[in-house]
Amino acid sequence: MTANIKFVKHLQKSIFYNPLKNNELDTQELEIRRDPLTHVQSVFNPVLEDKVAMFYGSSDAALMEKMAAESEPRCFLCEDRWRAMTPTYPSDLVPGGRIQVGQAVLFPNIFPAGQIHAVIRVGQKHYVPLAEFDPVSVTEAFQAAFQFAECLSKDKSVQYLTINANYLGPAGASIAHPHFQIVGGDLPCTYLESVLNSSAAYHKSNGSCYWPDLVNVEKAAGERYIGASGPVEWLAAFSPQGANEVVGVFPKRSHFLEMTDADIKGLAAGIVNVLHGYADMGISTFNFSVYSGPMGEHDDTIRCFVRIISRQNVYENYRTDDYFLQKLLRNELIVITPEALASNLRLQFK
Ligand SMILES: [Zn+2]
Repeated sequence: MTANIKFVKHLQKSIFYNPLKNNELDTQELEIRRDPLTHVQSVFNPVLEDKVAMFYGSSDAALMEKMAAESEPRCFLCEDRWRAMTPTYPSDLVPGGRIQVGQAVLFPNIFPAGQIHAVIRVGQKHYVPLAEFDPVSVTEAFQAAFQFAECLSKDKSVQYLTINANYLGPAGASIAHPHFQIVGGDLPCTYLESVLNSSAAYHKSNGSCYWPDLVNVEKAAGERYIGASGPVEWLAAFSPQGANEVVGVFPKRSHFLEMTDADIKGLAAGIVNVLHGYADMGISTFNFSVYSGPMGEHDDTIRCFVRIISRQNVYENYRTDDYFLQKLLRNELIVITPEALASNLRLQFK
């Protein structure tokens, strides 16, 4: 069966008298891209390519250090303060109430946004520039996450789980200390629900799973393929839903309970590679989500995957990167093309 994946680019022209060009008539050509699975749109205007600074100010390293130093003394993840300050699960669900793997600690979110909502401390250091994220502490955090998924398998109402991260204020984090969050329950989140439906429809009409097909097509084309970290395959999203979106696919795993140690180490290594690549690009913040099909039986219509995006950089009075285009029209703006992003990040996967 050959993969039936189409990368559609819709072209538009925008015409006006341009004061930057002596008030001559200017025609700017826009490219509207559609995600091959969900059809979500993103917009690229090549004129913006050398105007990155208009959208993303430079990261202010001194400001980040200063803010981190101010928040460290009251951080509940630093030292062993979490022992006194964080909640615990009933011990029939999680023996001992919390999960500890090396420096990683998993405990309930005190203000849950879902039936299941846990927080995981990533390493003991309060503030970590993206260039200094290390595979060991990220691996420990994911190991804690997947141990928690095992604990939750006793509760059959928990069908859907995601592992997520916000890093630093512009990405929505309320504390600097690196941490991940597991969110889930008996309903998939809105995005996952649409992906499950589209993936099932793809499987029905093509007789194959979209996700390994996507990897094969992108690997063969090469333009957006970045590399592999163990069993995980990484590529730049054709129609990104955030800045610098990278997608990692587990070609053989349909849900979190199928993950092996090699999968977990590959996931951590790949995320760290992307963060180091972001650091080289001057980026200081990120979000990611790791998605899973329903827990339990292997489901051949879906695979586990992760999406990682960068957010606005940290500087004083920064401008938000989400405006009406993203929040209300649900179109993303492409400032750096996915093809250029892939060529930047490929170096980290060598
Ligand atoms: Zn801390």
